[in-house]
Amino acid sequence: MLEKYDLIIIGGGPGGLTAAELAAAKRKRVLIIEKDGWGGTCTHRGCIPTKALLSCSKYFADLKKLKRMGINITDASVDFSAIKKHQQQIVKVSALGAQKVLTEAGVEIKQGTGEILSPQEVRFTDASGKSENFLTQNIIIAWGSVPQVLPGINLSERVLTSDGILNSNTLPSSIIIIGGSVIGVEFATFFAELGSKVTIVEILDRIIPLEDQECADLLSQELTRLGVAINTATKLESLKDTGNGVVMLAQKDGKQIEISADYALLCTGRKPLLNTEKLEKLGIEYIKAGIKIDKHMMTNVDGIYAVGDVTGGMMLAHRAIQQARVAAGHICGDNNFCYNENFIPSVVYSHPQIARVGLMQKQAEAEGLSVEVVKSFYSANIIARAELMGQGFVKAVFHQDKLIGATIVGEDAAELIAPLTLAVSNELTKKQLRNWVIPHPTLSEIFISIIG
Ligand SMILES: Cc1cc2nc3c(=O)[nH]c(=O)nc-3n(C[C@H](O)[C@H](O)[C@H](O)COP(=O)(O)OP(=O)(O)OC[C@H]3O[C@@H](n4cnc5c(N)ncnc54)[C@H](O)[C@@H]3O)c2cc1C
Repeated sequence: MLEKYDLIIIGGGPGGLTAAELAAAKRKRVLIIEKDGWGGTCTHRGCIPTKALLSCSKYFADLKKLKRMGINITDASVDFSAIKKHQQQIVKVSALGAQKVLTEAGVEIKQGTGEILSPQEVRFTDASGKSENFLTQNIIIAWGSVPQVLPGINLSERVLTSDGILNSNTLPSSIIIIGGSVIGVEFATFFAELGSKVTIVEILDRIIPLEDQECADLLSQELTRLGVAINTATKLESLKDTGNGVVMLAQKDGKQIEISADYALLCTGRKPLLNTEKLEKLGIEYIKAGIKIDKHMMTNVDGIYAVGDVTGGMMLAHRAIQQARVAAGHICGDNNFCYNENFIPSVVYSHPQIARVGLMQKQAEAEGLSVEVVKSFYSANIIARAELMGQGFVKAVFHQDKLIGATIVGEDAAELIAPLTLAVSNELTKKQLRNWVIPHPTLSEIFISIIG
């Protein structure tokens, strides 16, 4: 007799973990299968290691500000091996935390590969090749995404994706970053703050093309000030590992340019892990961008759900988490969770950070909405001044007095976007926002002038 579950989840990233914990809390018998590390891309190759690294480089960069505050540090230097230890320690804490949450919730966990045989049966195979089949009422696909490598580019010891660079223990003296979107500018910030010579190569005419132009301009200005060479409208032609470095050829302004560096980092996007042959065998509909799902995160096959990066769209951990809440809620008969792609905040953890929720001015205008755009500057905020935060602003977009979107560029933008996400997703009006009392003195007081 095969063991029978209410829910089997394949993939132990933020999506899978959230669904498992929620369904177990509702007394469902849940099995989760993970082939690599608990916490998924987020914990091992994404959010957590990159933010651990960026906090180190930020402290180092901020030392320059201390002199202006009367604190003299004479012999600050970078110990890259200690920085890598900090990264590894934070990843370890996050992975152990993920496993602890699962066991405490009563979720059964298995380390190995999961394969869907039918909507009612899943095969688990461990590292030694031993297999076991299980029956289930529901399945959640949460097996994530992988880095996208441009055709014609060969990965090597010096031509790396984000996975590879996070495993490397060398601080490059110079690095070419192909792709000036979120992951590219985050790594550019980190390496430049530690003193590497960084070159960004971006095919479009600006970095961070999905974000507000003014925010991208401010970030470009700050990265340039840090010494990052930004080549926009530049098309990569070839990238070669010469054994002791890399050589890149690209087209810019109708001319060929050649740039050499220690390492090259490919930040040219991620693609969902589709396993297309298996999806087709099961009759699960997908497009290149991801598995198709309905408002409950269910695929076209009854009882099989998909959440997170595998569904395409904005590949973000908190998006995977919300989709997982909706899917697990539906399986458990709780339809109180809902998902709206417009209300998923996005953050670029560069320095300065860029954070956004809802509609940008351009998007709202393209939808034919009459908008009022209100801006508030860090320079008018006393905490931003006291802490030498530098430039930044909040741009709020109102339609018929309702807050429909906000973008922030500046220090702590990732934290500041959280209350605005609540406001935008509840379509709060200026009148309602005026009763929002903000502690003084705080950076959050920057919101007072947008409310009026
Ligand atoms: C460099 C980088 C930085 C990032 N920074 C951020 C950030 O700051 N904020 C943010 O919100 N997002 C960030 N992301 C994106 C974030 O990591 C992903 O959106 C998130 O991890 C997606 O979660 P998921 O549950 O869909 O999949 P994943 O986290 O990818 O987890 C999927 C899991 O499934 C497992 N798996 C795959 N196939 C099988 C199988 N057949 N059997 C068993 N297990 C399987 C994989 O091993 C993996 O552990 C970053 C990504 C990268 C690469």
